[in-house]
Amino acid sequence: MGLHRGLSTTCVHAGELADAHGAPHTPIYNSTTFGFPSTAALLDVVEGRRDGSLYTRYGLNPTIKSLEAKLACLEQAETALAFCSGMAAESALFLTHGRHGVVVLGDAYGGTLELVGQQLPELGIRTHLLLGDELSRLEAVLQGGAGVLFCETPTNPGLEVFDIRGLADLAHGHGALLAVDNTFATPVNQQPLALGADLVVHSATKYLGGHSDITAGALMGPRRLLEPVALWRKNLGQVPAPETAALLMRSIRTLVVRVRQQNATAAAVAQALQGHPRVRRVLYPGLPDFPGHNLAARQMAGFGGMLTLELDGGFEPTARVVDRLRVFTIAPSLGGAESLVTQPVTTTHHGLSSEERARRGIADSMVRLSIGLEDAEDLITDLRQALDATA
Ligand SMILES: *Cc1c(COP(=O)(O)O)cnc(C)c1O
Repeated sequence: MGLHRGLSTTCVHAGELADAHGAPHTPIYNSTTFGFPSTAALLDVVEGRRDGSLYTRYGLNPTIKSLEAKLACLEQAETALAFCSGMAAESALFLTHGRHGVVVLGDAYGGTLELVGQQLPELGIRTHLLLGDELSRLEAVLQGGAGVLFCETPTNPGLEVFDIRGLADLAHGHGALLAVDNTFATPVNQQPLALGADLVVHSATKYLGGHSDITAGALMGPRRLLEPVALWRKNLGQVPAPETAALLMRSIRTLVVRVRQQNATAAAVAQALQGHPRVRRVLYPGLPDFPGHNLAARQMAGFGGMLTLELDGGFEPTARVVDRLRVFTIAPSLGGAESLVTQPVTTTHHGLSSEERARRGIADSMVRLSIGLEDAEDLITDLRQALDATA
């Protein structure tokens, strides 16, 4: 990697395998197993004296290894592990490093809340879910003992921004690791490891994949922390298929241009909708009056492609606006080329009681937008016609 400096160059070239035929990109090695010229050569790989391909479920497959080299470079990490989903990466992380306790700060992905809030406690693991306005309790909770402090920043769907450096210092002061879910920000906009985090998690299903056509995950960090995670991944059987690994590498080559375009379009949409008579609030870290703006401006290189609107009125009038959109598709998920819209109350936060949603600041009138690669003017026109038609 010595020659590659910028992130765009890294995305295109890092990790690519030069094969004997001169293909510019890593080929798809669909083999489940790999042959050896001798027993001694096989034992060299099995006993760790030599790197080599062995068995795909172990992750010892050239396509998966090649993807992992690229993933590590994206987050300037020593090493990376590829997974078959974002939740696979999170569950392997918590089973490895969270057995002495897991603390989740802020709102988080629904699967994360279910895993940490319900399933890990069933295994006897102590967990705490703290919201951003309970930050003052974090130190006391960490004092009680925890292996991992985990957060998203910005969060879903409120785009709350947390101080990564401050949280890393606090976690380290109490012997815990800080793991940041960097799915929303992407490495283009935010580099948590450079800010002091120990581990970065991605749902590569979102921006890294970028086309809503692959499910994958990633974990980046130092070798000493990832080696034990690789054992869980191996025996839980969580590696991505080689085809998926190759598709993900294909997608990452265009990550920087996609995300920068999505940043710019999201900013244009946020500005255009601010002050619209039917829009009570636009939640977007790039807006100067957004509560997390100054912190975001310090720790992020761009403000991302996700924004949330709070409309005037309740669930029904909001659903009517959503149903009138023509360019946006009504769907959960995010980070693809096509713009998506969802009311968090119908998808990401549907399983919570109304009291819990209120506690988390999830209003029935919230609309989350994942900005795609369409023209900003078309997205703004679409949103305006839907808002105006239902006024
Ligand atoms: C989607 C998502 C996940 C889970 O990823 P999968 O690939 O669906 O398993 C985790 N964190 C965030 C922030 C997500 O958006």
